[in-house]
Amino acid sequence: MAGLIERFIDRMPFTMDDPIVSIEEGSTPLVPAPRLSDRVDADVFLKIEGSNPTGSFKDRGMTCAVTAAAREGAETVVCASTGNTAASAAAYAARAGMTCAVLVPEGKIAAGKLAQALIYGARVISLNGNFDVALQLVRDLADQHPISLVNSVNDFRLEGQKTGAFEIVDAIGPIDLMTIPVGNAGNITAYWKGYKEYNDSGVVDSVPELNGYQAAGAAPLVEGKPVANPETVASAIRIGNPARWEEAMAAITESRGAIRAVTDAEILDAYKWLPANEGVFCEPASAASVAGLLKFGVSDAARETADGRPKVVCILTGNGLKDPDTAFDNVGSVIPCEPEMDQLVKAVLG
Ligand SMILES: *Cc1c(COP(=O)(O)O)cnc(C)c1O
Repeated sequence: MAGLIERFIDRMPFTMDDPIVSIEEGSTPLVPAPRLSDRVDADVFLKIEGSNPTGSFKDRGMTCAVTAAAREGAETVVCASTGNTAASAAAYAARAGMTCAVLVPEGKIAAGKLAQALIYGARVISLNGNFDVALQLVRDLADQHPISLVNSVNDFRLEGQKTGAFEIVDAIGPIDLMTIPVGNAGNITAYWKGYKEYNDSGVVDSVPELNGYQAAGAAPLVEGKPVANPETVASAIRIGNPARWEEAMAAITESRGAIRAVTDAEILDAYKWLPANEGVFCEPASAASVAGLLKFGVSDAARETADGRPKVVCILTGNGLKDPDTAFDNVGSVIPCEPEMDQLVKAVLG
């Protein structure tokens, strides 16, 4: 399958003559979730963004941001990151033959993401400060030097990420409700752009309700003010002052949706329930979209507009393998066994 710029070239700010930088991102599975569907009385699908080349949806945005940087002749890209943007920027920069530097908050990066950024050859800089401080610093850095900033404040990122909405509608037609974790708020903004674009150009004649979920310890959009010291187990959405604040709130309002908080305990419940019941392992931040659906259910409005059972999509933004430490912290231990049959039987049958 071609990468998403090629697949959606008519809806992209690029032409086929541009130096497209792609690792064949997108085309991710949209998997029915029968047990989750039973629990919320709706037809629920999981959009498995962890199947992208570096294991998160960030690749959708990065193919566009790095292609635009290549077209401008940039030699260096930079970003602030809670981990996944760093991994993705590092991979696409490597692919493009560019240098990449990433600024990550000290000690708060999931092990898999850090390993990725390093193995793809990025300069990984650990900042003694949180994500919001890191983003302000790289914005200033990119203003003062010939370096391309590839955070989601870069509009090309949204152009790529809106294709998630196209893929959903292309696969199952218009949907009634979408749930999504919200950190810096670029992705919810991008999905709304995608749904509106399909609606405005007559591909479909409806847009879904958007429900965004923040972690309770990092919920500035829910509280209506920045959070100085955001804290959550869901490190990918540990953000206190989202860059796409106004646009995300506009998307939520226009879609007649909601932005709400789920606690770390609720996130971890969903994080453990999904792999055990649907065979799908996502990272903690991604589980917020399922935790929110389980906590708040499907709105009456979405049920009323639905043609039959409401169609719901939960965006699972990143792969569970990114963060093995959180997995180990939340499961039982492995069972030791000598190479003897009676011991083995006991170990297997419990
Ligand atoms: C980046 C990220 C998010 C948050 O997306 P925003 O665009 O910052 O709102 C959620 N989940 C994962 C796994 C991410 O990497």
